[in-house]
Amino acid sequence: MPVTTPAARAAAPPKPLPDAATALPQDFGALLRQDPEIGGILLAEAGRQSSTLQLIAAENFTSPAVLAALGSPLANKYAEGYPGARHHGGCEQADAAERVAVRRATELFGAEHANVQPHSGSSAVLAAYAALLRPGDTVLAMGLPYGGHLTHGAPGNFSGRWFEFAGYGVDPDSGLIDYAQVRALARARRPKAIVCGSISYPRHPDYEQFRDIADEAGAYLIADAAHPMGLIAGGAAPSPVPYADVVCATTHKVLRGPRGGMILCGVELAERIDRAVFPFTQGGAQMHTVAAKAVAFGEAATPAYAVYAHRVVAHARVLAAALEAEGFEVTTGGTDTHIVVADPAPLGVDGRTARERLMAAGMVVDTCALPYGDARGLRLGTAAVTTQGMDEDDMARIAELFGAAVREEGDPGPLRAEVRGLAERNPPYPG
Ligand SMILES: *Cc1c(COP(=O)(O)O)cnc(C)c1O
Repeated sequence: MPVTTPAARAAAPPKPLPDAATALPQDFGALLRQDPEIGGILLAEAGRQSSTLQLIAAENFTSPAVLAALGSPLANKYAEGYPGARHHGGCEQADAAERVAVRRATELFGAEHANVQPHSGSSAVLAAYAALLRPGDTVLAMGLPYGGHLTHGAPGNFSGRWFEFAGYGVDPDSGLIDYAQVRALARARRPKAIVCGSISYPRHPDYEQFRDIADEAGAYLIADAAHPMGLIAGGAAPSPVPYADVVCATTHKVLRGPRGGMILCGVELAERIDRAVFPFTQGGAQMHTVAAKAVAFGEAATPAYAVYAHRVVAHARVLAAALEAEGFEVTTGGTDTHIVVADPAPLGVDGRTARERLMAAGMVVDTCALPYGDARGLRLGTAAVTTQGMDEDDMARIAELFGAAVREEGDPGPLRAEVRGLAERNPPYPG
């Protein structure tokens, strides 16, 4: 609803945009004039994103082309069903967009079938369970204290309520998945499905071993590759597609697309997966998001994106080593992915306090469970800062700034100013 009358709007001169808007890929002038309340909030968010460091491992900056697709006329279109079999009329362009998205996804990941409709990573996992399981079935997944996602059996999530979850962990010394334990649990619990994938495990799952364990147990193997899907697209991480019965993913993490989910599988499960997404767990697909996913898959198929994906991993390795040099304990002693988990305990600071101090200095990170004890660690990722064009020297400097902020060395003012400078020299949407 317009907050000013048309006459007043016509009379008011267009307001110049505040200059904190370097994270704005679009012209927000019209929105600001029509709805200054929300326009102002979005502008402030753009300012926040461009003046602080986005080190949340699950975040990234989508391209202007992805954002343009999100703001496109397909946002207005209802399209329940699948291309060629919709419940609504007028779906010619929606069908065309979804066919392109599916074709690009299957080509990019070498999969036989793709469903690009899940509204989120959690919706993708819900549909995968709905396709393969019945309530009460046993599922083996990474335990929550070791990095399992909410959809891997958390008590407050549908998964923990409707299924019997058994959780595998990591070796206490190496921090690596203990495959002997996974196998022993699979033998003892006879799960109907085994899930591999995590929110904070910084190494690659051994998909071949998981396949072998699943075959022995007569279980489906579900890879929840929400985090590494972009690394997989860029050839910077091994692919679960040859091994897993079903691969669930998000499109908004390293993959750098719109917020959303996707599912890959072989032809024999295609129909069950499709029916589990629609009509079982979802209604109409968000066709503007589907179009934006297609754009992101197109971008992820380019040589430039492969270079990006490899840089993301190289940057995480530099960051992990530099954080160890600052005195943090880095789980598994490093990383193979975009994720670094750092325990600030050796600096005499707990995870939550460390996060508050980092936030005060303009470095935005999450805390996460640590694979030992009850303390929380810091989880950070290099996807967003790498999209911004930062380099290995910047990563090393970020680790120093981390150490200074967590130890509360010196005046927070100059620290915050340096973080702001680093962010502003690398705008996510230059020009
Ligand atoms: C991010 C993530 C999800 C969920 O994605 P949403 O889009 O937030 O629902 C599921 N599983 C794993 C392993 C994740 O990392």
